[in-house]
Amino acid sequence: MNVGVLALQGDFREHLLALGECGVSGKLVKTAAEIAQVDALVIPGGESTTIYKLAKAFDLFELISKRIADGMPTYGSCAGMILVSKSIVDPASGQETFGGIDMQVRRNAFGRQTESFEVDLDFKGITGKQFRGVFIRAPWVESYGAGVEVLASVEIAGGTHPVAVSSGKVLATAFHPELTGDNRVHRFFIEELCKK
Ligand code: GLN
Repeated sequence: MNVGVLALQGDFREHLLALGECGVSGKLVKTAAEIAQVDALVIPGGESTTIYKLAKAFDLFELISKRIADGMPTYGSCAGMILVSKSIVDPASGQETFGGIDMQVRRNAFGRQTESFEVDLDFKGITGKQFRGVFIRAPWVESYGAGVEVLASVEIAGGTHPVAVSSGKVLATAFHPELTGDNRVHRFFIEELCKK
């Protein structure tokens, strides 16, 4: 299986390493020809507005959107979660998304006080100890449609907010498993979404 990691901006190298540790030969991709060849795609954390602008500038936006719509297994973390959403509550001017999960996300949702924090999460489908969620100016899922499964949530200021979701072949986390050395989310993506 050929898993591409979108390498326009962000922490794509860390995702590549995590995939490698799961026994998958990932490949950094940034051209239409490379993206057309992969069986699955990881969209890294970084800055969703920048990744969006670069995807547009390099004529990749429609291609990636279409491949996701056609059922390519896709995993987006943080900025990647924003990019696989249907819509953004507070988009930057002109910012669009590839789509993939019927949800609306809020960028930088946790606000200035807690822009970056870590918390242990129960992640549905991952066994063993809780998963350490590393949140860096992270989004949360504001609302979602019937076909969306919530895999993990964060409780903050009296509200519960989904921070890991899947729908069909698309997985999204608001946090960064690729920065933890714990590869269980990547393994979950490969075993549950790519291979099935
Ligand atoms: N706040 C960033 C954005 O809007 C995401 C941050 C991240 O990926 N760590 O894209």
